[in-house]
Amino acid sequence: MKINSPKDLPIKRGDRVFVRCDFNVPLDEFGNITDDRRIRMALPTIKYLLDNDCKIVIASHLGRPKGEFNEKFSLKPVAKRLSHLLKQDVIMAKDVVGSDAKEKAANLKEGEVLLLENVRFDSRETKNDEGFAKELSEFGDFYINDAFGVSHRAHASVEAITRFYDSCRKAGGFLLLKEINFFHKLLENPVRPFVAVVGGSKVSGKLQALVNLLPKVDKMVIGGGMAFTFLKAMGYNVGNSLVEDDLIDEALKIMAEAKRLGVKFYLPVDIVIADKFAEDAMVKYVTYQEIPDGWMGLDIGPATVRLFGEVLWDAQTILWNGPMGVYEMDKFSRGTFKISHEIARSHGIKVVGGGDTADAVQRAGDDEEMTFISTGGGASLELLEGKKLPGVAALEIPDEVSCQ
Ligand code: AMP
Repeated sequence: MKINSPKDLPIKRGDRVFVRCDFNVPLDEFGNITDDRRIRMALPTIKYLLDNDCKIVIASHLGRPKGEFNEKFSLKPVAKRLSHLLKQDVIMAKDVVGSDAKEKAANLKEGEVLLLENVRFDSRETKNDEGFAKELSEFGDFYINDAFGVSHRAHASVEAITRFYDSCRKAGGFLLLKEINFFHKLLENPVRPFVAVVGGSKVSGKLQALVNLLPKVDKMVIGGGMAFTFLKAMGYNVGNSLVEDDLIDEALKIMAEAKRLGVKFYLPVDIVIADKFAEDAMVKYVTYQEIPDGWMGLDIGPATVRLFGEVLWDAQTILWNGPMGVYEMDKFSRGTFKISHEIARSHGIKVVGGGDTADAVQRAGDDEEMTFISTGGGASLELLEGKKLPGVAALEIPDEVSCQ
């Protein structure tokens, strides 16, 4: 099976193309976009269609509006930013499949772009409703999914809609294809040594990814809250640190499996501990053997940064998912930022996945240095877990089909 790129589609001047983008961008309290990466990353597909004089109808979600109109989740700020980036007007519909959207779509001229309102204003979107998908499909002769960030969800504009397009009328957008190709290459044919750096809050959230990655990597580095379940499994006191007692057996199994496979497995050797989960907490640095009762580990310590730095030194491929500590608080951000710098200065391929990790890399000022930062947190994690994403599977067509 294969997936068409936009260039494989027999698109002609004046064709109507429906594009599902992921414009789920962060907004501040005043409704300003604080990070427009997801919009900028979708530009290649939109520009390709503009260069081919298509009529483009774009759909996206923003936030979780619960199936009804809510001004707070309107895509209006996105339309403005997209206009600015494309240097042309983007027409904004007042609804999703209502009379305004339909009228504006019908009047669309070649080279014009219409943005529908938030698809999640219609409760049928998240139910993968076929009737809603059919109405959406009436906006386009062709369908392109460039919304990697939602492709792990079987939603109407991502999954059900593909049923209304035959093999030569649907494609993955350039961004979506780039995302899946990066992860595919990484997991199937990495340049070695391949090091996975995994952090974040809990083992449970990443268990499947750890199990799937273990046979593929040469070294595995664990940081963040999840490290404490491993340390506890090894018999150490972890005080009030985040621990999942029910996963201690799993943690032991993972460590045994790493040993069996010859994968080098690294845990923090020193920890920044605090007497409470707060910015004004009292802080101490201790080795992992010496976490006292009543204290909690909220970041990796300086010795760990050096150790992990050395582990990364000869890496040819690095995959990073999950912060090393509670990086949102200044006091516990140093470990994450320093590991970000260590990864950034490696000469290998550096792939970052996960919303928090991408945010941390940006705050650390290392985003330009990374080879690839995924736009999809949940979606990239599911790829690491070895799962097929429903939105991607729905784009697959038989190898023998040629559309040109
Ligand atoms: P995840 O969504 O699983 O990647 O987790 C990201 C979150 O993990 C971030 O919000 C961090 O603040 C949090 N985190 C990282 N290290 C720790 C820790 N030692 N204790 C508690 N939370 C942590």
